Amino acid sequence: MRENYTLTRIYLEASLAEGRTLALSNDHAHYLRNVLRLSEGTELRVFNGSDGEWRAVISSLGKRAGDIEIQEQLRAPEACPDIWLCFAPVRKHRNAFILEKATELGVAKLQPVTTARTQFSKLRLEKMQSQIIEAAEQTERLDIPLLNATIGLDQMLADWPTERTLIFADEAGDAKPALVALQNLTGPTALLIGPEGGFTPQERERLRGQDYVIPVSLGPRILRADTAALSLLTLFQATQGDWG
Ligand code: SAH
Repeated sequence: MRENYTLTRIYLEASLAEGRTLALSNDHAHYLRNVLRLSEGTELRVFNGSDGEWRAVISSLGKRAGDIEIQEQLRAPEACPDIWLCFAPVRKHRNAFILEKATELGVAKLQPVTTARTQFSKLRLEKMQSQIIEAAEQTERLDIPLLNATIGLDQMLADWPTERTLIFADEAGDAKPALVALQNLTGPTALLIGPEGGFTPQERERLRGQDYVIPVSLGPRILRADTAALSLLTLFQATQGDWG
């Protein structure tokens, strides 16, 4: 069982080494002092996405500022499986759900992709980034998923690294079951989920025409995009990812 998991955990963009004193951001100082009611001398855990997880102690803590001292490494760096989730942005709270669940489920990269029927393409990257970091802090991840800027489907396919298989969640219904397709996968993989309005016939034809694309079915019912993203990621982690 993981130790120290009751200690508060925060993500810092700073290199972590024994004895280093790091200044807390205003937000972190506010969170630790005013939300969690912590004080000087309290221990916590910090991670930065690449140096593993370290024990630290609050050495000073004011209303909007503070310092922590890095003590010892508790967990060595570890990365999640190399799986990407490409998804057409959906309405705000469902987008936040996709980001949070994908982070918890161990996605390595998130690629928002606009398609013909995407209605919500104005995404605030820094808001999405903070949602991802919050999910990573809570889910005990040691790395942070990469969040790419939104691109169009045509652009994404034009620049696609063809050694990476693209599992295309195709709601048209005539694709092979996702579990069957995922069993025989080799090499790097990405998943593609469409928008609330689904893919157009032209997009479906364009995708199916690529030899690195495997269309898959997620069963006889039409799932919401956020449900489909979570379901397909779950199947991936259980068959090819790190749930083994
Ligand atoms: N409203 C659309 C469905 C969109 S669902 C329609 O009725 O056609 C949003 C996305 O979730 C789809 O583009 C697809 O990527 C995925 N999805 C939903 N249900 C699915 C299923 N049963 N099989 C495969 N993909 C599915």
